[in-house]
Amino acid sequence: MSGGAAGAGCYNSESLTRATDARAGRRQRLLEALAELRCDAAVVSHLPNVRYLTGFTGSNGILFLSAERTVLFTDPRYELQAGEECDCRVRIVRGPTWDGVWRHAAGRRWRIALEAEHMSHAVWTETARRLGRNAPLKPLGGAVERLRKVKSPEEIGAIRASAKLCAAAFLQASRRFRAGMTENDAAAEIEYRMRKLGAEGAAFETIVAAGERAALPHARPGAARLEAGKPVLVDMGANLAGYMSDMTRVAHFGPPSREFARLYDAVLEAQQAALQVARAGVSASRVDKAARMALKARGLDRYFTHSTGHGVGLEIHEGPRLGAKSEDALEAGMVVTVEPGIYLSGKAGVRIEDTVLVTRTGAEILTSVSKGLLVLES
Ligand code: ZN
Ligand code: ZN
Repeated sequence: MSGGAAGAGCYNSESLTRATDARAGRRQRLLEALAELRCDAAVVSHLPNVRYLTGFTGSNGILFLSAERTVLFTDPRYELQAGEECDCRVRIVRGPTWDGVWRHAAGRRWRIALEAEHMSHAVWTETARRLGRNAPLKPLGGAVERLRKVKSPEEIGAIRASAKLCAAAFLQASRRFRAGMTENDAAAEIEYRMRKLGAEGAAFETIVAAGERAALPHARPGAARLEAGKPVLVDMGANLAGYMSDMTRVAHFGPPSREFARLYDAVLEAQQAALQVARAGVSASRVDKAARMALKARGLDRYFTHSTGHGVGLEIHEGPRLGAKSEDALEAGMVVTVEPGIYLSGKAGVRIEDTVLVTRTGAEILTSVSKGLLVLES
């Protein structure tokens, strides 16, 4: 069980103070962003953002933030937990949680920014009806997500631990891969190992794609069987204490065909080319381009059908995006994936992915599992 009481007991008072200071600093920076939007208050309802700003890990919480007050609205199930986790006022709402927020803000002349991209049209409309009479509502426009792009040393430590766990689980699970087992069996083995190693669970639904099914970038594991003489692609990540990791490796039962080895080498070369240019100050699109150019040199770029990577943190997909059209520049402290792939429909797919920490001088790989093609006995 993941009771807040047990969690709080593990912290010494120094680390608790550090966490509280970190959250207060994040809220302060959000207030500065609010001032730029000419707003007095923000209502944050996207749960990873709520967690980032308050420490609250429950499944229902809405944060009201202004220069004068920070209040978390949640329901009676979380009364104890919210009190232990949050360093702000907690208001328990019976009935719809939004109703508590509306009542709190009604009758004031606050200009309020909301996370339009994370809420239903119905909630936006009702909020406008209840609160927007004096000043129109404004979209917060990803202000919290922008703060989250650069990780604090504590967050980097958390992701590092998550990535290490992911790598260890892969090594343990892949030893048990046998020809004849289903993708589902293999995925279950991976998720079991992650849990046994201390993860809260998988960061996303584990992908195990047997043989040519790896040509589907988002293959769901099913009844297809791992086969002798064929490859298997695994894309997995751990959720450890709320922080995610993301890694893709390809294994092969017995020695690969020359053709498959050529595909694998091409993707590995593309990944290394991207890793080589990734460092603080470089545009995210340049990292994407490096991977694409390497594949182009082998005439394979048209089979690379997604972007090169994404940020990883409290969510498995967050900013920055490493794509051709990305306007982000890499900064020290960002944690991103680098994951080029090629997908030959009905034939084969290869993707190689690491979670890496961007530093001033380069990219430190956090998912440290060897990238030579893993040859398994069938
Ligand atoms: Zn992945
Ligand atoms: Zn990924």
